[in-house]
Amino acid sequence: MSKELRFDGKVVVVTGAGNGLGRSHALEFARRGAKVVVNDLGGSHTGEGASQTAAQKVVDEIKAAGGEAVANYDSVENGENIVETAIDTFGRIDVLINNAGILRDVSFAKMTEQDWDLVYRVHVKGAFKCTHAAWPHMRDQKFGRIIMTASAAGIYGNFGQANYAMAKLGLAGFANTLAIEGRKNNVIVNTIAPVAGSRMTETVMPQNLLDALKPEYVTALVVELCHESHEDTGGLYEVGGGYYGKLRWERTKGKLFRLGRPVKAEDVHEAWGEISKFDESATHPPHIAGSLQPIMDNVEAGP
Ligand code: NAD
Repeated sequence: MSKELRFDGKVVVVTGAGNGLGRSHALEFARRGAKVVVNDLGGSHTGEGASQTAAQKVVDEIKAAGGEAVANYDSVENGENIVETAIDTFGRIDVLINNAGILRDVSFAKMTEQDWDLVYRVHVKGAFKCTHAAWPHMRDQKFGRIIMTASAAGIYGNFGQANYAMAKLGLAGFANTLAIEGRKNNVIVNTIAPVAGSRMTETVMPQNLLDALKPEYVTALVVELCHESHEDTGGLYEVGGGYYGKLRWERTKGKLFRLGRPVKAEDVHEAWGEISKFDESATHPPHIAGSLQPIMDNVEAGP
């Protein structure tokens, strides 16, 4: 067993920490010595209402166990207030876990503009507001760890979750760029796609599965990704029920047509096998330069 991953002296903000995954993260960071800002708006899982009870209960739990925590009841849409709570109470912010979330599941034909906007506002705009407020502190102190909470629904799609899938994969794209911009200042940004038993999944999963998929399994990865010893950035991890794995893009070798003559739809039709076939010649472009390489090579080769 390696040395315990401690967070003494670190200030950790967890959004949506009144329930489920966020609660588990908050309790564990506090147990490992961090001072924790427990944010939660305290509404329903579809984003209605508000209450201070959820966040306060978790703060009470942390304090009862001898830890340090403060509650914040703002919506993540007012992320600057959440970060301000960290600075005013504890003087700094080292780790930000963007976790708050809601669902407005409905098939696309029945989805209203409000369903779309609300999910965007909580997941994407909320993560933007919290991260944007935390970023200058992390940059200036040359230390920061940020987590985005995505979902398999975003990576693969899922019936009835067009809005949620859009928001969740949006967060992964957001994180990819932050990872590039933050690296030189030791601001490390990673994305998780978790599965856990929570009030969010209790309507779609049987009880035995809900019991098995303990949020604590997900928290173990979040703690590792946020520790000062962890330097891998820009990763996307699937996690839950004891499984931990990393994802990457895979691209077919594809078909290159020499430049200097038009490429017709019929040419594409004919080359479809080559364009779409995944075999051992497939590649895994690790960055945008790698993605553009064959195109630039083709341009350089000329007609
Ligand atoms: P949960 O409903 O138990 O917890 C989410 C918390 O976020 C709630 O306490 C809620 O009050 C809070 N919240 C909602 N809107 C907020 C806002 N505007 N501002 C502040 N707090 C707000 O759900 P969970 O399963 O623990 O989900 C946590 C995160 O994990 C979410 O982003 C969710 O989309 C994601 N996720 C969960 C699963 C899963 O299997 N449980 C799967 C994929 C992704």
